[in-house]
Amino acid sequence: METATSANLWTALGLVAWFVFFYFYHGLGITLGYHRLLTHKSLQVPRWLMYAIVSGGYLCLMNGPIIWVGVHRLHHQKSDMPGDPHSPRDGFAHALLFWAGSMDGIQTNKELQNQCRDLMKDPILRAFGCEHAARPALMCLAICIVFRVALFMLFGAGVLAANLLATAIVFWAPQLVNTVCHLPSQGYRSFATRDQSRNVWWVGLMGLGEGWHNNHHAMPTSARHGMKWWEIDYTWWATLLLEKTGLARNVVRPSARILDLKMVDLKELELKQKEPVSV
Ligand SMILES: [Zn+2]
Ligand SMILES: [Zn+2]
Repeated sequence: METATSANLWTALGLVAWFVFFYFYHGLGITLGYHRLLTHKSLQVPRWLMYAIVSGGYLCLMNGPIIWVGVHRLHHQKSDMPGDPHSPRDGFAHALLFWAGSMDGIQTNKELQNQCRDLMKDPILRAFGCEHAARPALMCLAICIVFRVALFMLFGAGVLAANLLATAIVFWAPQLVNTVCHLPSQGYRSFATRDQSRNVWWVGLMGLGEGWHNNHHAMPTSARHGMKWWEIDYTWWATLLLEKTGLARNVVRPSARILDLKMVDLKELELKQKEPVSV
């Protein structure tokens, strides 16, 4: 009896470990891979490692990396203005999910590819789609299903369940950044950016540091989003680990001017600021 209980405990702990692994694999795939690495060039890693990191985002239903990056770069150019692909000003449900099906008139395929001239040079990234169409989205869905069937066949139902749970949470993190972190009623602002971006602690935790979104809009190229000691940013810590082990270089840090702001009353500064903060 005692042996059976002990075995159950180990099985449960094993599944928790798988869940944590998948959470960081898929989560960092989006935050570190799609976002900070590909979109903003906040750091550089060897090409093989870039593919390994980015695969976590792709296998979490994020669609082709070039498509994601093209949309996100447009978001930074037009945040909360006409032409922003997913501002909550156009409705919460639209910003949360439905924007993905209504890119007509927002960004043509030509504009998408022009946004991503750097990534278009990479034939592997290009192979996963570089146009707003059903084909790359369905291809991503099919590959995600095959991946999970393989998990089930190799490791069993428990590991598949751990993956599905991690995927279900991680998938919504960037969608919540797009909505909650642009809602004036949520969180707080540390910087007077042109948009209505906010820092929201629970999105920060859930999204491995991406919820410090006002900080991010203030300095989009910075690899570090959490600026105060309590603004937990797992993606930044992962970047530091990669840098320490020699796998990441040219890591973009917030400028000294931005870091100095931590020493003053940011709210007061926001009132005084006439011009938005830039890196
Ligand atoms: Zn934003
Ligand atoms: Zn960004």
